[in-house]
Amino acid sequence: MSNRKLIKGAAIVSVDPKIGDLACGDILIEGKVIRAIAPTIEADDCEVIDASTMIAIPGFVDTHRHTWEAPVRAVLADGTHRDYSETVLQRMKSVVRAEDAYAGTLAGSLEALDAGVTTLVDWNHVAGITPEHADASVAALREAGLRAVFAWSPNFQNSWEEEFPSRRPIPEAEAKRLRRDYFASEDQLVTLALGARGPCVTTPETVAEDWRIAREYGLGISFHCGIDGVGPEIRSWHPVAELHKQGLMGPDVTYIHCCTCTDEELTYIRDSGGKVSLAPGSNMPMGIGVPPTGRLLEIGVRPSLSVDVVVNVPGEMFTQMRLCFHMQRMLDYMEQSGMIVGRGGLRDEWSPTIGIRDVLEFATIEGARTAGLDHITGSLTPDKRADIVLISTDSWSMMPVNDPLGAVVNFASVRDIHTVLVDGEIKKRNGVLLDVDKTRVMGLTLAARDQMLSSFRKENGEFDNERFSRLRLPPPGLVCCGSHHAAAHAKDRHSHVPAH
Ligand SMILES: [Zn+2]
Repeated sequence: MSNRKLIKGAAIVSVDPKIGDLACGDILIEGKVIRAIAPTIEADDCEVIDASTMIAIPGFVDTHRHTWEAPVRAVLADGTHRDYSETVLQRMKSVVRAEDAYAGTLAGSLEALDAGVTTLVDWNHVAGITPEHADASVAALREAGLRAVFAWSPNFQNSWEEEFPSRRPIPEAEAKRLRRDYFASEDQLVTLALGARGPCVTTPETVAEDWRIAREYGLGISFHCGIDGVGPEIRSWHPVAELHKQGLMGPDVTYIHCCTCTDEELTYIRDSGGKVSLAPGSNMPMGIGVPPTGRLLEIGVRPSLSVDVVVNVPGEMFTQMRLCFHMQRMLDYMEQSGMIVGRGGLRDEWSPTIGIRDVLEFATIEGARTAGLDHITGSLTPDKRADIVLISTDSWSMMPVNDPLGAVVNFASVRDIHTVLVDGEIKKRNGVLLDVDKTRVMGLTLAARDQMLSSFRKENGEFDNERFSRLRLPPPGLVCCGSHHAAAHAKDRHSHVPAH
């Protein structure tokens, strides 16, 4: 049997300037690799995928998601950053067991894959609780079958109890073990990176030691910086300037959020070749800050996008692209019309600084650059790996398609994602993930959910909804868990299912 596939007759948005957009074209895949893209390709001995009603785009790249939080989806749909800090980070995280990390990471990764995210940076700050948590998380990422960067983030488990800034470096022996046991090769779908704490959270000596260990073991580094909403002290932090002062910046570092970074700090990132991950979906409603999209574009830094937390935003990239696009367009308009400072009326013309092609690039090729994987993914380019999403155009919200790019960025949703390929393999077809035991994963997810919410129970077993007023804990009587089979399964195994 041939290992060749031919995607036939798609509208192609390649995100590769050399290939451009094709109104109708074919993509030839050999094994794991895109071999050719052209208006017509004649090839025999291929599995032909009829894409005549579809738009082909590169798989999305999400550059920062705390995937383990999937079981507690939407509990902070109305929350602020302080709520997140006091509930998810301080309480739920502390009760997560290795099996919960496995269930959450598996469910969250499959959610990503279903949504066309073919590369996920799993920013895993439960992996450091015990080595078993790390093992479970890696197992889940591998089982999910998508391309993933396991951003191992140790020392977060006790970060709220221990001194600030911390003097405790990351455990080098564990970095060595992970590298040896799971990541001896870079030529695999799941690779290793460090989710660091960074300056201000740790002392300069600890930052230097963490960075040394990461670089010694070949780990890309990312850390959260420029965040607001958790107190005036943290607002006054300038970790990027601190890192600059220490001479530790570099192209291997990703800066997550950057909302309260000064313009000077952003130029440090640019000049060091650093990458940026923006998360407009968590930043805006939670008060983490204003994503500095326009400020970055102005100095020539093109950011990537990330879901961050499914406790308040959906785990797909359409929402992130639209929020990024709409927010920056609104800021452009407000600034140019004088609305911010109340200088009066609208000018006759205003010039947007961002377009729909920009945000699709942020969600694909810039994501791949941020993850250090742009040589193999992020665009539909011959010789790159075949990470491809086919978006159906026959739904009421998509038809008729007049502009494929505009349809993808402004109109498509997860239900329109018909086919997903990772590394040349079909992972989703006809809108359904292949080879996934959904009932099993749902059962595990519900059990993990119960466990993670246990810290919010009062003595009588009910949830403390008053104390955590913006936390959306399950109300008594809620039964719509997502699957009858999974709910029954979870109930059998755990007598304390909150919905019953
Ligand atoms: Zn985050």
